[in-house]
Amino acid sequence: MAWDFSTEPEFQEKLDWARDFIDREVKPLDIAFPGEHVVFDKSHPVHQSIIYPLQEQVKAKRLWACHLAPALGGQGYGQVKLALLQEQLGHANWGMVVFGCQAPDSGNAEIIAHYGTEAQKQKYLQPLLDSRISSCYSMTEPQGGADPSLFTCRAELDGDEWIINGEKWYSSSANVAEFIIVMAITNKDVPVHQGASMLLVPCNTPGLETIRETGNFSDIHSKTGTHPYLRFNHVRVPKDHLLGEEGQGFMLAQVRLAGGRLHHAMRTVGNCQRALDMMCERGLARQTRNGSLSRNPVVGEQIADTWAKVQAFRMQVMHAAWIMDQQGPLAHETRLHVAAVKAATPQVLKDVVWAAMHLHGSLGVSDEMPFGGMWNTAPMLACADGPTEVHKATMAKEIMRRFKSELREELHPLWPSEHLPARREAADKKYAHVLEQANND
Ligand SMILES: Cc1cc2nc3c(=O)[nH]c(=O)nc-3n(C[C@H](O)[C@H](O)[C@H](O)COP(=O)(O)OP(=O)(O)OC[C@H]3O[C@@H](n4cnc5c(N)ncnc54)[C@H](O)[C@@H]3O)c2cc1C
Repeated sequence: MAWDFSTEPEFQEKLDWARDFIDREVKPLDIAFPGEHVVFDKSHPVHQSIIYPLQEQVKAKRLWACHLAPALGGQGYGQVKLALLQEQLGHANWGMVVFGCQAPDSGNAEIIAHYGTEAQKQKYLQPLLDSRISSCYSMTEPQGGADPSLFTCRAELDGDEWIINGEKWYSSSANVAEFIIVMAITNKDVPVHQGASMLLVPCNTPGLETIRETGNFSDIHSKTGTHPYLRFNHVRVPKDHLLGEEGQGFMLAQVRLAGGRLHHAMRTVGNCQRALDMMCERGLARQTRNGSLSRNPVVGEQIADTWAKVQAFRMQVMHAAWIMDQQGPLAHETRLHVAAVKAATPQVLKDVVWAAMHLHGSLGVSDEMPFGGMWNTAPMLACADGPTEVHKATMAKEIMRRFKSELREELHPLWPSEHLPARREAADKKYAHVLEQANND
């Protein structure tokens, strides 16, 4: 098996183009049109006049919707190449939209493509792939986000229609979405992982109520929240709006979320590299009485530690991407690596942004540098798609499962296999003839 960390020259050329394109055409959008409410709202004029033409350039370069298979308008490059590209996208908030891999639309498109009926694909998938509409994925409930066994949102079949009742919390972009994929209990007599299903709900369906337009804490003054708190009041959708089979909700969620978690991490690598670049620039440009800031040994150590952190995280993400390419999103090994990456992501981002921000002193914490927005992302990433602790629990489960499967002998209840008295006895026995000879000499 070869260990090769190089990038094919043809793909490197595409990455170089993307880097330059993002610097020139995408990063300025973050300044002129900040805020998720614009990014997700396809009716905002910026989409028609600026974003769509930029997307055409991305398509021409064969970098459009790289998370998808070619049959769906993607490129089929696989997760490793996707990781290299997403790293670049992490340098700008608008990157995902311009390159056709905006969450939650990217994951929603994937599950409709894999599990949707022809009619569902016709109605929802194509406009989503063309980036002409936004969608929402609605799973979390106010009383139980990380614990689905507490979910109560129900869907019951009534003739040819499903009737949905319940509340959903933090349903990102529901306020501008054309449709929602909602997770609801369709069989309450079995555990939730077998009794939940996904349904497609057009956002103009009667009974769909927005309780509050909740936003992230950075939206507190602008009041432009894009994570609504929803209530489904006897919302009726046709029977054929079930996505996949009844009871398959969690299996679909697993497929959807595994890729999504990894993609967040890939972009976070780029975000961290951006912070590191700013740190290096500051270290070089800022002068002290002993020369540039980076010549100070304490600062030098901070730069070195930060570089090492980013490098280690990047390797972890690339390796997880490679595992997913090799084994698919549902394999145990993929689960372990994606959970590890998901747990590491907010911590690395927090540490790296902190170090870079701090080296800028008051300028770093001011509203004249982008650190605040980058810093805010860390706690979001620690909750979105499941809190860190839950992913660490998944890791522990997978690590122990693997360990058990590799055991070659039964465990002794008292004495570990590395217990020295037993090992000494065995070693003495194994080398008895030499030890005896040495003792006689
Ligand atoms: C920016 C953002 C976007 C989001 N978008 C969506 C979306 O589009 N659709 C959607 O359905 N949801 C979305 N969410 C919600 C997200 O999925 C939930 O935040 C997450 O599942 C955790 O649920 P919770 O927030 O209710 O936290 P809780 O379940 O209340 O957990 C709170 C804390 O308790 C601790 N905890 C919880 N469970 C455990 C455990 N088993 N072991 C140890 N500690 C634990 C952790 O510290 C955790 O952070 C989004 C969240 C954010 C921040």
